[in-house]
Amino acid sequence: MADRDGLIWFDGEMIPWRDAKVHVLTHTLHYGMGVFEGVRAYNTESRGTCIFRLQEHTDRLFRSAHIMNMPMPFDKAAINEAQKQVVKDNDLEEAYLRPMVFYGSEGMGLRADNLRTHVIVAAWDWPSYMSPEARDLGIKVRCSSYTRHHVNISMCKAKANGHYINSMLALREALDSGCEEALLLDNEGYVAEGSGENIFIVRDGKLFTPELTSCLDGITRGTIFAFCQEMGLELHEKRITRDEVYVADEAFFTGTAAEVLPIRELDGRTIGAGERGPITTELQTRYFDQVKGRREQYPEWLTPVR
Ligand code: PMP
Repeated sequence: MADRDGLIWFDGEMIPWRDAKVHVLTHTLHYGMGVFEGVRAYNTESRGTCIFRLQEHTDRLFRSAHIMNMPMPFDKAAINEAQKQVVKDNDLEEAYLRPMVFYGSEGMGLRADNLRTHVIVAAWDWPSYMSPEARDLGIKVRCSSYTRHHVNISMCKAKANGHYINSMLALREALDSGCEEALLLDNEGYVAEGSGENIFIVRDGKLFTPELTSCLDGITRGTIFAFCQEMGLELHEKRITRDEVYVADEAFFTGTAAEVLPIRELDGRTIGAGERGPITTELQTRYFDQVKGRREQYPEWLTPVR
């Protein structure tokens, strides 16, 4: 990954990909205190390459930094501009973007009172998080033996680097047991989220998703809320148990990387008909139509890079 052509925005400058380096004593590398975003740009039919919900991602990045008490050395306009610029200057038609805010190597103490905050934005071609079949047929998921962060252990509203230790442990366990993704439960045993996705279930034509207590306030989740409103679908945020997922008619994950991903099995129990259900199909179609600029609704969600 480090050895490739291209440019990365680093503290206000575009620098060659291979030169975008930090010292081994970089504070964030040691303790995981940093915040980041995962953003996608799509090649739209009407307006060329556009970043999807750029402002919302930038807003969340700044909220994450605020929660973690990390001073941001740039304003939102500069970070928006940087994201447009990396896609453009790397000649990418479609891209996954990674803005990240991290502490430098000025000191190693936990007080973190003498550190500089740095910001990078990288972008690369990352067509699909899961296989194309997964998108159509759904994936196999297992409930993790790892609990999702508790609100008083971590700051669940922040998309923080260190949080992903928990995600990676859960995902590895799921992959090792022949599944494609993990479903993490909260400390009381209720459904929280996937390793990098929010979850929805469908029962009798109604949608349910966990409250935001211990899961990330996903931007794709918000997009699904908007579609439900358009479609007149009832949607409730509530506590969900793992057996409610077993007996759901449909279930799916949402996330910038995973997009809208059907779940066909949880813990060896088939969900619904064991294939992508009709409501998931409709929401997934709307999602891809939206990000690809084939819909007239919400034009403000697409920011052209050129
Ligand atoms: N939960 C977690 C833990 C995530 O990492 C992500 C991906 N950012 C999501 C949910 C989904 O968020 P979004 O739709 O904003 O990508």
